[in-house]
Amino acid sequence: MVNQNAYALGANRSCIRDLFEYGRQRAAIVGPENVYDYSLGNPSIPAPKEVNEAVRKILEETDSLLVHGYTSAVGDYDARKAISDDLNARYGGSTRPEEFFLGCGAAPELVSVFRALAVPGGELLAVAPYFPEYKPFAEEAGLTFKVVPPDVPDFQINIAALAEMLTPATQAIILNSPNNPSGVVYTRQTLTALAALLTEKAAAFGHPIYLIADEPYRELAYGVEVPFLPAIYRDTIICYSYSKSLSLPGERIGYVYVPGAATDSSMVYAAVAGAARASGHVCAPSLWQKVIARCAHLRPDLDSYNRNRLALYEGLSAMGYEMAKPDGAFYLFVKAPGGDANRFSELAKQHDLLLVPGDGFGCPGYFRVCYCVSLDMIHRSLPVFEELIRQFQ
Ligand code: PLP
Repeated sequence: MVNQNAYALGANRSCIRDLFEYGRQRAAIVGPENVYDYSLGNPSIPAPKEVNEAVRKILEETDSLLVHGYTSAVGDYDARKAISDDLNARYGGSTRPEEFFLGCGAAPELVSVFRALAVPGGELLAVAPYFPEYKPFAEEAGLTFKVVPPDVPDFQINIAALAEMLTPATQAIILNSPNNPSGVVYTRQTLTALAALLTEKAAAFGHPIYLIADEPYRELAYGVEVPFLPAIYRDTIICYSYSKSLSLPGERIGYVYVPGAATDSSMVYAAVAGAARASGHVCAPSLWQKVIARCAHLRPDLDSYNRNRLALYEGLSAMGYEMAKPDGAFYLFVKAPGGDANRFSELAKQHDLLLVPGDGFGCPGYFRVCYCVSLDMIHRSLPVFEELIRQFQ
């Protein structure tokens, strides 16, 4: 006998992984140049060269027992200090190293935070469209997962719908901006309205409502502001990852930030550390902690993502496709011609164009285009997009 929830999750591959595997099989048959794979969010820009230099230097200069040894469960002080200094320099805040818990990327950090906040009967609200893994993470933690309907067509936050869904059982709401899958960045105006609503409801319920900010794409914004949420809403907890910002998804490094000013902050911090301990996710990779101690100030070079973004946004819009302005991350979320994104994605698949239907993101009728690909592939795929939309006009 095995745990049936775990079995169901492991036995059913995600639709994104299925598409990606399908693309590999097709590439072997028709040639990689004839497959237009927009399925997977694997960064397509290399890590900054300073990162590789830091790795080399650390290996040369540091005692190998230290490089590869266990660190403190919450992470090396130097790395936490570098992160704190960088945030303070950018946002003028007063974060302290003690407020950071180094984690193995955003996924396990979210698991720890959800578990830390999971009181009996507690609910977690996610704003659609949302990252599909939130649901299994929340349910495994024992939280009831609820979805706030999308704010179409702009994909900001549907504040009115959210207001109706907040109840005394609401423990937290999770936000992801810049957003996967919409590419939208929540504006300061949206976030200020959200903060006012949460503050009012928390006072009415007599307990905090935490705002969990899932921020792997924070540095991937194209000329728009990504507001620092703890400065807008006090009870914010950040889950950050270097997977996308430094193109290090395989190295598993990031952090949880619990601001000292948040309600019950030391209790929340201890609960995050305890939840990480209970799920075996303490002591993030030691070498990469040392790299972050040297590289926390680095930013990605977004030129190639930006070129891809504009080529697709302008190209698809000119053909008649509709989508919210993709100001961040590396995704477009496009309204499916004909209204049925599953049908449209199936049709596209027949042309070896791989698009992810929006159902798994809580948003049927849209498909996701992930543009960490080559510009050349984008140019070659545009006639296929054109041929497809013509069938619906
Ligand atoms: N959250 C969002 C919105 C993501 O898109 C991803 C990965 O694609 C993650 C979390 C998980 O990131 P990590 O690789 O740091 O675990």
